[in-house]
Amino acid sequence: MDRLILDHVLDHEANRANQVFFTQPLGGGPVQDYTWGQVVGEARRVAAHLQSLGLPRGARVAILSKNCAHFIMAELAIWLGGYTTVAIFPTETAETIKYVLEHSEASALFVGKLDTWPAQQPGVPKGLPCIAFPLAPAEARRDFDGWDAIVARTAPLAGRITRQADELAMLIYTSGSTGTPKGVMNTFAAFSWAAAAAGEFASERVGAGTDRRVISYLPLAHSFERTWIEGAALIEGTTHMFFADTLQSFIEDVKRARPTLFISVPRLWLKFQQGVFAKMPPAKLERLLKIPILGRIVAKKVLAGLGLDSVVYAGSGSAPLPPDLIRWYQRLGLKLGEGYGMTEDNSVSHTSRLDIDGQAEPGWVGVPMPGVEVKLAPDGEVLIRSPGQFTGYYKQPELTAASFTEDGFFRTGDLGERRPNGLLRITGRAKELFKTAKGKYVAPAPIENLLLAHAQIESCMVSGVGQVAAYALVVPAEDLRPRLADSALRNEFEVEMAALLERVNAELTDYEQLGLMVISRDPWTIEAGTLTPTMKIKRTRIETIVAPQVEGWYARGQRVIWA
Ligand code: AMP
Repeated sequence: MDRLILDHVLDHEANRANQVFFTQPLGGGPVQDYTWGQVVGEARRVAAHLQSLGLPRGARVAILSKNCAHFIMAELAIWLGGYTTVAIFPTETAETIKYVLEHSEASALFVGKLDTWPAQQPGVPKGLPCIAFPLAPAEARRDFDGWDAIVARTAPLAGRITRQADELAMLIYTSGSTGTPKGVMNTFAAFSWAAAAAGEFASERVGAGTDRRVISYLPLAHSFERTWIEGAALIEGTTHMFFADTLQSFIEDVKRARPTLFISVPRLWLKFQQGVFAKMPPAKLERLLKIPILGRIVAKKVLAGLGLDSVVYAGSGSAPLPPDLIRWYQRLGLKLGEGYGMTEDNSVSHTSRLDIDGQAEPGWVGVPMPGVEVKLAPDGEVLIRSPGQFTGYYKQPELTAASFTEDGFFRTGDLGERRPNGLLRITGRAKELFKTAKGKYVAPAPIENLLLAHAQIESCMVSGVGQVAAYALVVPAEDLRPRLADSALRNEFEVEMAALLERVNAELTDYEQLGLMVISRDPWTIEAGTLTPTMKIKRTRIETIVAPQVEGWYARGQRVIWA
């Protein structure tokens, strides 16, 4: 690869100095624009400041912040200064923050936009140099050196700075559905390749002009957003990137951005749909959509209500998207394609190409991106090799060695099925498989997909290790939950769930069939540790929490029960 990500960034600094790159909400309405000149200019000054701390080349510098303009400026400062980024999810607990800072031996930390900083601060080792972003909580701005003050007093690092292809650009600690986080090592070569591949995919579909707009809101600490939104924008230089203000203002933030490219994760696609259903019952919407002309107007209105009416291409990744949900968005006229990737390949692996026959189908995750090699192991495990893949898990050589085949393919841990043209379907996750007392493996994800297709279910988990049959634990949709206090509605929901259970079982083979469905009263959350920061369910955690109740559930002998 001849040009790495910093080469592109420094070109944009020179050629696009006055072009607006970021629009950052400042809270309560006002926004601030940053041009390419300002973005790289501030990064050069902060890079000089980091060097003044005497950090050795390659030192790890951490960022703990929700997405904001300064997150990306800080990453550029880290790269320009000669260092490696370690981004920590802004929702992480003090305990995990401490683990990641210590494991990565971070030499400094940027503290940014955060909702729970006082609870997180104990995770930061005493004496670690910290820098507060302008949007950091007041306590952090009081306690630490401020970004703006550093920019004001520091001379910029000058010149055409380069990093070597094999130097580490970042460690990405993966949330992992189980166990402690692992530090995925990404070189400049791998990240640059992946970011360029993502940018090219988007350009081919959305157009390469300067009117590409995106909103950065999925956590940048995760590889999906890092590569597809940040990385692609840094390589291409043509994107106008907006950030969100708060969770409450999210729809308004999207409407401000009017994104032309929009990516999200299944749980949020489901939430957006439920938001629509809260205003208009599904059956009524379906009726309207079928009416010629009016149907198009209604569809456009629904998308406009979500702020997505300018979207030219939308993507979903990071977990399986129920096929009916994709079809629903497609009926609204949204070009939504599912992709598949993981931290270990910088989220560049498979994408759905809706514009090419046979390269997209609901329930399938698309075809390999150019340069990605794929094969299936004899047991069905998906094996992947690409120039965008990681070089190993930080300080875990044995785990690294075990993760690759002899010929250098990464063992994804996902089970798949492929069509001759490479179209891939994920059929389960090797490590999620469990056996009921029937002695045969059950893959929970496909069953969960069937359940999640129901509009009144927000999330669910299928488990039942060693039980007579598997159980499903379901969380009712957010707008429904408070209303379930009403006993009439509860009964109605119970009847509906019982019918769903029978419908789903009818699609499953004997040993996969669900013995019972348990309705959870409480939602799963990132804060409670029952969802990963990218909002996947943490199976082992949820299983541990419910473990004391499981025997009792089965003993009741009912099909549908309340937890
Ligand atoms: P992460 O490293 O957090 O991005 O997690 C990667 C894992 O998420 C993959 O190995 C898959 O198990 C899962 N995953 C990502 N995209 C999809 C998808 N479209 N369908 C099913 N599973 C997915």
